[in-house]
Amino acid sequence: MINRTTKMAAGALALIFVVTLAPTALPAHAAPPAGAAAAIDELLERRAEAVRIRDKDAFMATIDPASERFVERQGRLFDAMRSVDFASYSLVTKWERFGDLVRPSDKARYPGAEDVAIPLTEERYRIAGFDPEEAAEDLFYTFVKRDGEWSVAEDTDLDDLALFSARHLWDRGALEPRRSDHFLQWQHPCSGENCLTLGAEFLPLAESGLKRVDEYWHGPWTRRVIVLVPSSQGELRRMLQTSIDLDNFVAFAYSTIDLAHGIDFTGHRIILNPNAFEVQTRERVLTILTHELAHIATRDSSGVFIPTWIEEGFAEVTAYDRDPSALAFFDARVEAGEFDGRLPKDFEFTTGDGTEIYMSYQEAQSAISYFIERWGLDRFETFYVRLGRVGISPGTSSYHVDSALRETIGVSLANFASAWARASARD
Ligand SMILES: [Zn+2]
Repeated sequence: MINRTTKMAAGALALIFVVTLAPTALPAHAAPPAGAAAAIDELLERRAEAVRIRDKDAFMATIDPASERFVERQGRLFDAMRSVDFASYSLVTKWERFGDLVRPSDKARYPGAEDVAIPLTEERYRIAGFDPEEAAEDLFYTFVKRDGEWSVAEDTDLDDLALFSARHLWDRGALEPRRSDHFLQWQHPCSGENCLTLGAEFLPLAESGLKRVDEYWHGPWTRRVIVLVPSSQGELRRMLQTSIDLDNFVAFAYSTIDLAHGIDFTGHRIILNPNAFEVQTRERVLTILTHELAHIATRDSSGVFIPTWIEEGFAEVTAYDRDPSALAFFDARVEAGEFDGRLPKDFEFTTGDGTEIYMSYQEAQSAISYFIERWGLDRFETFYVRLGRVGISPGTSSYHVDSALRETIGVSLANFASAWARASARD
């Protein structure tokens, strides 16, 4: 049974979320139709230019008029994009990633078309004043050729393969911006009773969270963050492209992956879960925002081999400002003999019931608290940066964590884990 206290605690979890790359083991790797690549790139350049100069006619002229529902949706999309201040915007095909993904069943949807192609299209953009680097999202536009001209006819044809085109907040309608020194908050205009209303104290709390993060993280980061407030959990799920039980989480730190130069995390956002966020005290809102900001602050130093217990542990330590009472649930489980003495695995932060997920967060927080108590905050940052620097290379995450621990504090992963477990049992 999950008691109310536990459930509230579990509901307060905040998860880091990096867009996963589409699977690479897809059957099709067909080459683009003859002459298509250059013509489609020219079409995409016209479309991106139309976004940049806010020319709706030019934008709509890139769409296949035969796709009536798509035409309608794209008209609304363009209107909503007017509220977005793009510093840059471009669209480029990446045939080299998957080739042409079009199947006979896709072609059959466009009778009369001379040709149909679905390469991966990369959308790259920067929000003015907030993105120092381009956010990079995957789109799966269906391109059709009629009378010798290519146009965009759909962006959902590969949904059945779980190849979803990215969805932004502006895909679901206009945005209402609110600003503070370091934050931009976007949500849809609120009509009716079902939307999350954030009070005037929300952005000042975000600013306080930023100050707290400054005490815990000294590496370089943008310190300019966009907070997205979807209108519904459905909208949130579609933006995150996830099947996890969202009821267990109240907010997400979201980043895109840019593959242009190795693997870079870009386009950092905080996304709130409108269902879980509404009943929160001021102190909880501060904690949640600080937690997410700690994730975003560390993104530029993060890497593919940093396990979740390190990410979530550091975010929780920062969020609770090392308040020992924030580990009350963990302490009670230890006391009751319900602590297995091992570091939580990545999947234990997203699967299982809310109480068990919460215990993983508590274990992570305890382990990072232990690190910082014993070796200091500066040494933790050195360790994190050292581990984050490892690019694509052989070896498991544990192997790289072990090497980074030995180098920075002179202790193996196994010895760190057992020393932490012993210290936890003693306290
Ligand atoms: Zn988190």
